[in-house]
Amino acid sequence: MIKAKDVSHSYNKDIALKNINLEIKKGEFISIVGKSGSGKSTLLSILSTLLKPISGEVFFENINSKNIKDIDSFRQKNIGFIFQFHYLINYLNIKENIQIANEKATLQEIEKLLDLLEIKSIINKYPNEISGGQRQRAAIARALINKPKIIFADEPTGNLDSKNSKNIFKIFKKLSKKGTTIIVATHDLNLASKTDKTYEVNDGQL
Ligand code: ADP
Ligand code: ADP
Repeated sequence: MIKAKDVSHSYNKDIALKNINLEIKKGEFISIVGKSGSGKSTLLSILSTLLKPISGEVFFENINSKNIKDIDSFRQKNIGFIFQFHYLINYLNIKENIQIANEKATLQEIEKLLDLLEIKSIINKYPNEISGGQRQRAAIARALINKPKIIFADEPTGNLDSKNSKNIFKIFKKLSKKGTTIIVATHDLNLASKTDKTYEVNDGQL
């Protein structure tokens, strides 16, 4: 599904990633662990096409990302993003927050997704009316509404307690079993142990 070949990156003169080679299969649930500043976010940004590496290549189903003409629409069609902060819009309710990501989504589709995430009851609530765990699940719903093949999550449980964190990882597991490829960066080794495979980034090296 995704392949990184000899990927290196630096910001100014600081080397952030050195010669990363990596292959992720369809439906795999992968975690990337490492200390703060080790390069996890940089690796996720490159694998998800948000950042162009200084050298090396990223392939999606054997297509070099350099050869994808409209990378924005490729990303929109194929990739879902989840971050540490949910970035829900406070003056929109949960249904409207999800429709922002896909204006054609029907109420039925949104309800089905919220049901899967066990938050159907909050569909008409505003972000400040629900708990942190529910907000993060709503952000996951927003990432899923376009049925992405791949999900990138950067410290998705950074703001959650351990119960909610475990729940988020259970949801990821369920999605990966349905064929969605999931790549999560976390510094939580216990959560990482719930995934299919863990890579450690140490000083820019995998
Ligand atoms: P992690 O996600 O593991 O905390 P990052 O990928 O954010 O690591 O950072 C890797 C290295 O690259 C660090 O030394 C960090 O300071 C540096 N870095 C990250 N983003 C930038 C940036 N936008 N500009 C300059 N340096 C950066
Ligand atoms: P979670 O299991 O997601 O952590 P909580 O135990 O924090 O949920 O919250 C239980 C219920 O309390 C939720 O259904 C939510 O509606 C409500 N609630 C939690 N936090 C807030 C908040 N900050 N403002 C309004 N309602 C909240």
